[in-house]
Amino acid sequence: MDKAAPKVTITHHPDVRRSLMTQKAYAEGMRSLVLYTASVQDEIAIKEAAGEDAKALHGLNDLLLPIVKGYGSEKGYEQLAQSLQTFGGSGFLQEYPIEQYIRDAKIDTLYEGTTAIQGQDFFFRKIVRDQGAALNTLSEEIKKFLAVGTGGEELAGARDALAKAAVDLEAIVGTMITDLTATGEDVKNIYKVGLNTTRLLLASGDVVVGYLLLKSAAVAAEKLAAGASGKDVPFYQGKIAAAKFFAANVLPGVSTERALAESVEGSLMDLDEAAF
Ligand SMILES: Cc1cc2nc3c(=O)[nH]c(=O)nc-3n(C[C@H](O)[C@H](O)[C@H](O)COP(=O)(O)OP(=O)(O)OC[C@H]3O[C@@H](n4cnc5c(N)ncnc54)[C@H](O)[C@@H]3O)c2cc1C
Repeated sequence: MDKAAPKVTITHHPDVRRSLMTQKAYAEGMRSLVLYTASVQDEIAIKEAAGEDAKALHGLNDLLLPIVKGYGSEKGYEQLAQSLQTFGGSGFLQEYPIEQYIRDAKIDTLYEGTTAIQGQDFFFRKIVRDQGAALNTLSEEIKKFLAVGTGGEELAGARDALAKAAVDLEAIVGTMITDLTATGEDVKNIYKVGLNTTRLLLASGDVVVGYLLLKSAAVAAEKLAAGASGKDVPFYQGKIAAAKFFAANVLPGVSTERALAESVEGSLMDLDEAAF
């Protein structure tokens, strides 16, 4: 209310900071997701060159691919819209590149398989047909990371949020398997599965990204403790802040997705097409 107060840049406003940190967390988390998947592919190549069995790693890579494509494209597009919002009216103008990036990024949710198809591939082929083996490998990796308390006290709250989100994710998979099994009794139960496939894909992406952000944050905490200096300090602080922000603001959404998945019912499929 003080008209004489000094002017500040928009990064001093809480909502702008919220939006910027959301963009940073998703951008860095999804970059980690792509690199993590590529590292699994590297491990496959190394094992196969040594004549070793890489079946489990192939399964993990296959599981991660629809997340990279489906989650990456959906969230990339969403965050570009956030970015345009940060630039205000200037962002909307063609003089600035964001509006072009948004249109260019939109094709990613379509042309290598739409998100809905990635969601079906993820559940039916990468989880059900694989009998949950690859999902189990990933979930064990996350549990192992959480068990050793990497990142210390500073990241304890974020680790708890990740542990809870991982349990909620397992529950979504459990609900969908139950519905799939019940298709034998009533074929309409398959519709409940279909109503949850995209939800499962996106919730899985949140959990994996939350995990990878935490892994980066733990390394950043070590670097700071070891005496990082100069520009490295805010760089590592930013990694820790992004992981904590994602854990506090995005991961609790997996509980909501679980509640929605568990309450799904098939009446939508009975509705007359004309009602749409
Ligand atoms: C710029 C561009 C480049 C392309 N390049 C190639 C290429 O190089 N090679 C190639 O093979 N194709 C290419 N495509 C085609 C692309 O693969 C298809 O557009 C894409 O697979 C979607 O199919 P569709 O457009 O027929 O949409 P539809 O299949 O009609 O889908 C429309 C909507 O309905 C949903 N939907 C459809 N079926 C189901 C289902 N069973 N369950 C749930 N939801 C469903 C979809 O998710 C989507 O949201 C390209 C497309 C574009 C726009």
